[in-house]
Amino acid sequence: MVFFTMQRANHIDALSGQLFDMVVIGGGATGAGTALDAASRGYKVLLLEKNDFGAATSSKSTKLIHGGVRYLEQAFKKLSVGQYRMVKKALHERTTLLRLAPHITQPLQLITPCRTWLEACYYYVGLKLYDFISGKSHIGKSRWMSQQQALQALPALAAQKMVAAVAYYDGQLDDSRYNLALIQTAQQYGAICINHISVTALQKNETGKITGLHCSDTLTGNSYTLATKVVINATGPFADHIRLMANKQLTPRIRVSKGVHMVLPRTVWPGQSAMLIPKTADGRIIFAIPYKQHLLIGTTDEEDNLTEKAFGPSTKDVQYLLQYLNDYLQHPVTENEVLAGFGGQRPLVQQAGSNSTKDLIRDHEIEIDAPSGLISVLGGKWTTYRLMAKDAVDAAGNMLGTPRACITATLSLVGSQQYNSTTVINQVDFLPDFIVQHLLKTYGDQSIVIIQLARQQPALAALILPGLPYTYAELQYVVSKEMAFTIEDVISRRWGVDLLNWEMAIELAKPVGKWMGEYMQWTTQQEARYTTEYMQQIQLLIQQSRL
Ligand SMILES: Cc1cc2nc3c(=O)[nH]c(=O)nc-3n(C[C@H](O)[C@H](O)[C@H](O)COP(=O)(O)OP(=O)(O)OC[C@H]3O[C@@H](n4cnc5c(N)ncnc54)[C@H](O)[C@@H]3O)c2cc1C
Repeated sequence: MVFFTMQRANHIDALSGQLFDMVVIGGGATGAGTALDAASRGYKVLLLEKNDFGAATSSKSTKLIHGGVRYLEQAFKKLSVGQYRMVKKALHERTTLLRLAPHITQPLQLITPCRTWLEACYYYVGLKLYDFISGKSHIGKSRWMSQQQALQALPALAAQKMVAAVAYYDGQLDDSRYNLALIQTAQQYGAICINHISVTALQKNETGKITGLHCSDTLTGNSYTLATKVVINATGPFADHIRLMANKQLTPRIRVSKGVHMVLPRTVWPGQSAMLIPKTADGRIIFAIPYKQHLLIGTTDEEDNLTEKAFGPSTKDVQYLLQYLNDYLQHPVTENEVLAGFGGQRPLVQQAGSNSTKDLIRDHEIEIDAPSGLISVLGGKWTTYRLMAKDAVDAAGNMLGTPRACITATLSLVGSQQYNSTTVINQVDFLPDFIVQHLLKTYGDQSIVIIQLARQQPALAALILPGLPYTYAELQYVVSKEMAFTIEDVISRRWGVDLLNWEMAIELAKPVGKWMGEYMQWTTQQEARYTTEYMQQIQLLIQQSRL
C-alpha cells in the first residue's frame, strides 16, 4: 500500500495547517449529508470517518425511503403529534430523495396480504391516510386488491392465507451507494472527506470551547491534530462517545436497537412487488423486499449493547424471520436457502416514558452542548438525513455568526447530474448488456468513466468472476476514484455483495485482493493477510446464522 498511503499521509499532513469552519465526525448518511449541506452553503468543511463511508448503520438499512406505516399507526393509537409530524416530513422527503439520485432509487409497490375482511378494511383506510398525508409528494396511490390480483403480483403467496390485500407505494434506495454519492457531491462542493480516520480526542481552549481535534489514521497508525471552529457529531449509534469526549457531565442519550435482515434468492419470489407482514407477536412489521436479484426479509428490533463488529442474523433470528415469511407462502423456504444477512444498530434517542425501543420515535434532535460548543445530531432515519443535515448546519452557521440558507433540496447527486441511460447505452457496443445495466444502476452517469477505461485497456474489460457483472475496470475505478482502500470497502460498500451473498463475497475476495495488492503495492504477506481476514469475517457471519 506504499503508494496510496504516502498520498494519503501527504494529503492529511497538508490539512494540519488549516482552520476549518466545521469538522463533521462520522461518514454515514447523517455525516455525509451534513458535509454536503455545509459545503454547498460555502463553509470550509472536513469530514472524518473512522471506518469506510456508510460502513456502520447506513449500509445496513431495509433500504426503504419511507414515512413508515407502522409509525403512522402508532401516531394514531397513541395520539402522538410528534410521531405524526415525523411521518409527514419523511413522506415529503421521500420524493426529494428519489429526485436527487434517480439512478440508485426507485418507487416500490408494497402489498399487505389481509387475513380477514375487517383487517383488509383497517389497512385500506390506514394506507389511504398514508397517501393523504403525503399530499402532493405521493409517488403512487394505494389500492384495494382482490385475492386474485394479489396472487398475480406476488405468485409465491398462498391463496388460502388471505381474503384480499392492500397495495401502497414507498421508495427504495441503494443505501451504501447513496451514502457515497453524498460524499462525492460534498467533495464537488469543496468538502474534504476522508475515510479510515478515527477522531480520538477533542481539543479545547482555556474556556472549555472546542478548537480542534486529534485523530488517527486506522490504515497507517499516523496521528494528526486539526483545527476547527465547530465540530458536528454525526456518529449515529456512537454519538454518546463523542458527547462524552466533549463534556463528561453529559448523560448518555442513545439507545441502541439491533435490527437484522436475512437474504434469500430471488427465485423464491417471482414478481417485482414487496410484501408487508403487518403484525408479529412482538408488535412489529416485517418486510419481504426484492432488491438486486435477491429478497430481503427483515427486520428485528432488539435493544442491545453498542458493538463495533459487523453482525448478521443469528440462528434464532433466521428462525424468527422464516416463521413469519413461511406463514404467507405456498412453498415454505428452509434455512438452507438463506444466502446471507446483515444487521445494523438504530441510533434511537432516549425519550421520557419509553420502555421499548420499538416505541421510540424515529425523529431527530440537534443538541448543542453549551460549555464545549459541540453540536450533536441524534437519532433520525435514512429518509430524513437531509433534514437532519439542514438543522445541524443551521445550528453551526448560527454559532459561527454567518448563517446561510440550505440549498440541498435541489442539488442532484453525483451520478445523476447527466444521467441519461439511453445516451450511455448507445455508446457501448463492446460490453455485454448485463454489465452496462449494472454500471448504470450503480454509477449513473459516472458509468462512462468505467466504460472508457475498459475501452482503452481491453484487459480491464475482463470479468473478475464469470456470471457476475464486476470487471477489473470497475475495480480500478472504485479504488482510484471512490476511495476504496480495503477488500471490504470494495466488496461491501462499493458493490454490496457481502450483504447479499456470503459465498459470492468469499469467491470474490481472492481475485479482488490479488488485483488490489498489485495496484496498491501491498506486499505478498499483506495481500494474504487482508484476504484471509476478510474471508474469516464472512465465515464468522455464516457460522452465527447456521444451526
Ligand atoms: C436494521 C435497520 C433498518 C433500517 N431501515 C431503514 C429504512 O428502511 N429506512 C430509513 O429511512 N431508515 C432506516 N434505518 C435507520 C437508518 O439506517 C439510520 O438512521 C441511519 O443510517 C443512521 O445514519 P448515521 O449516519 O446517523 O449513523 P451511521 O451510519 O452509523 O454512521 C455513523 C458513522 O460514524 C462513524 N464514527 C463513529 N465514531 C467515530 C469517530 N470517533 N471518528 C470518526 N468516525 C466515527 C462510524 O464509523 C459510522 O460510520 C434502519 C436502521 C436499522 C438498524
